[in-house]
Amino acid sequence: MNIKEAWANVGGLSKPSKMPGYGYGLSAFECDTGSKLRLIKNSTCSMCYALKGRYTFKGVKAAHANRLESITKDTWVDDMVLLIKHYGKKVPYFRWHDSGDIQSLDHFKKIVAVAMATPGIKHWLPTREAGILKTFYKQGGSLPGNLAVRVSATMIDGKPHSNVGLTSTVHKDSKAIGYSCPANKQGNSCGSCRGCWNINIENVSYAAH
Ligand code: SF4
Repeated sequence: MNIKEAWANVGGLSKPSKMPGYGYGLSAFECDTGSKLRLIKNSTCSMCYALKGRYTFKGVKAAHANRLESITKDTWVDDMVLLIKHYGKKVPYFRWHDSGDIQSLDHFKKIVAVAMATPGIKHWLPTREAGILKTFYKQGGSLPGNLAVRVSATMIDGKPHSNVGLTSTVHKDSKAIGYSCPANKQGNSCGSCRGCWNINIENVSYAAH
């Protein structure tokens, strides 16, 4: 299998402008918990950026549909490993789900397998699916040190989730909890910050925008 074939098999990667390296996105319309949360005023999903703008373009929608269909393929883990190793050579930081979320426990286990097979790359996976993560742990699962899974808080100015490992919050009228994301002070860019990938940072707090 070559890079071109792997790219076609998984529907390609994304290149978020804010981030240092490559990423991967699914449609935010397919978020399970997020689809319920976005209907709730002041929830962190109520301000979802991935339901508007370029995310509604025909080409982006088609790429998301291809990716969603591909996650159940037997070759998905190997394809993603090949691509992430290849595109992570220069910048070894990968961001999962710049849009969309984990679809199932099986999907999550596959992402963990990809991270385990790419020890030279740091992975960051934000998620609203605390239940999937808890089931994973209950079944004896553990995460490799190069994978930072951050469970996002439910409400703006709300507290971080507990008993799920790493977390993130959104501050608007309250103070940031833990590490305050500097992106809004540096042109909405990560710059040299790699806070989200850092497993020693318990909670990252993003400014609401
Ligand atoms: S905390 Fe750092 S790495 Fe995370 S989004 Fe903000 S700037 Fe980027």
